[in-house]
Amino acid sequence: MGTTLLPGGAGKYVRGVDPACPRCQEPLTAPHMLLHCQNYKAQRDHLQAALHSHGLVYNLSNVLDPKEAARGPVFCALAKYLLDC
Ligand SMILES: [Zn+2]
Repeated sequence: MGTTLLPGGAGKYVRGVDPACPRCQEPLTAPHMLLHCQNYKAQRDHLQAALHSHGLVYNLSNVLDPKEAARGPVFCALAKYLLDC
């Protein structure tokens, strides 16, 4: 539980996977990638706009589990964010 396939999770267990963000040297976890990393700030703007347009605060809970009415648009914006990063 709590482990992801992001390097910050998998890198603790898989040899050859650096668990740190190459820019910040912080663990490359979902919160770091989605909320904090300055490396992805430009890509994050579109995702933040998608949440705000549905009255949602930009936080990890709303990004990964948005309310039903916003789920489609937020997940589309999340997919674009992940592909652009
Ligand atoms: Zn970073």
